Amino acid sequence: MSEPAAWQLPLWQSLLPLGRSEHTGGYRRFSFTGADTECRSWFVREAERRGLRLETDRNANLWAWWDPPGEPEESGSESRLESEPESGSAERRGAIVAGSHLDSVPDGGAFDGPLGVVSAFVAIDLLGQAGRRPVRPVGVVAFTEEEGARFNVACLGSRLLTGAVTPDAARALTDAEGVSLAEAMAEAGLDPADIGADGERLAGIDAYIELHIEQGSALAGMGAAVGVAESIWPHGRWRIDFTGRADHAGTTKLADRRDPMLPYAATVLASRTVATELGALATFGKVIAEPGGANAISSAVHAWLDARAPDEETLTEMVSQITAVAELSGTSHGVTAVSRCESLSPKVEFDLDLRDHLVTALAQRGIDAPLLPTGAGHDAGILAAVLPTAMLFVRNPTGVSHSPAEHAEPEDCEAGVVALAAVLEELACR
Ligand SMILES: [Zn+2]
Repeated sequence: MSEPAAWQLPLWQSLLPLGRSEHTGGYRRFSFTGADTECRSWFVREAERRGLRLETDRNANLWAWWDPPGEPEESGSESRLESEPESGSAERRGAIVAGSHLDSVPDGGAFDGPLGVVSAFVAIDLLGQAGRRPVRPVGVVAFTEEEGARFNVACLGSRLLTGAVTPDAARALTDAEGVSLAEAMAEAGLDPADIGADGERLAGIDAYIELHIEQGSALAGMGAAVGVAESIWPHGRWRIDFTGRADHAGTTKLADRRDPMLPYAATVLASRTVATELGALATFGKVIAEPGGANAISSAVHAWLDARAPDEETLTEMVSQITAVAELSGTSHGVTAVSRCESLSPKVEFDLDLRDHLVTALAQRGIDAPLLPTGAGHDAGILAAVLPTAMLFVRNPTGVSHSPAEHAEPEDCEAGVVALAAVLEELACR
């Protein structure tokens, strides 16, 4: 059951090895690295194979366009799918775009992101094979740095596109090695000078639909292969810097220490308690101890809190309780604790009309897709601020994600593609 279904084999087989660690089996597809460049080349090849018109936007997001017959936007990209001449009078309508992202968290799974991109290509294949033709542009998109694994801002590509982050702030972001986004883009052969909001591009899009593996097991509990997103919990990232004093582990008396590891540990434990009490989620998944000697008391501990809650009030309450513990515990250990919000995403309610349209279109084809809230952020959540967006989730039997153990059954992936194709057919084809 672990083999991909026949429809996706060539796509999966070509994408699966890219950026996968031999040691962990997880993916390390960090933006503008070699693995990322390989994934981008894969996207380009798949677009060209289908005769889709290819674009890299100013923010390094990749787009492949299936244009309506008779109105190719540029020369030199003749589509095998554009076989019917258009007789011409249909008014110009905005594009319907599907896609997701190709980057990963450290040791991420195969499905988070790539499933949405692969499914969008395959949905276009299915529609083309069924003789359907677009009456408006249909796009496949792969957004850049969705996970924020390299530059610590999630959904960076879509945030830049919509203007949710300024070009200057983005260019100055640095990775763990101190390499700035501007330097990393230039290194990968991309131009960082021109990044930023792209209203013209957005104005040409009428809807964005992101298919994604479910990052939870709600669908498994409901016995449904696919679901439709209802909302995204508000969520954000906070960096807490605990600064103490480096010292000798063997000669410094306990009472004399200013060990930043202690308030850090107290904060982690408190975050669990507070999150439990408030019905929210709090995670410390990244921590750096300086200088990192096994026989030394740390001089500083840098920790990142990922916080998510059903509503913004609860999120604010949770984070303020956790950072208060950090400061209080820090004080009792002679350690300063400074908290800083690195990113914050408000609650997203997806477009009601588009959502109803999806549910109805799927129901008409015998696909029962329940509505689901989600604690995970997505590019669709960022784009929801500026255009109608929707999400389709594919069942994840264990709910495990951001891990090499992430998995979806081939027949569920196929159900997802069929659902996505149905929606694209409904919205963009004749
Ligand atoms: Zn994702």
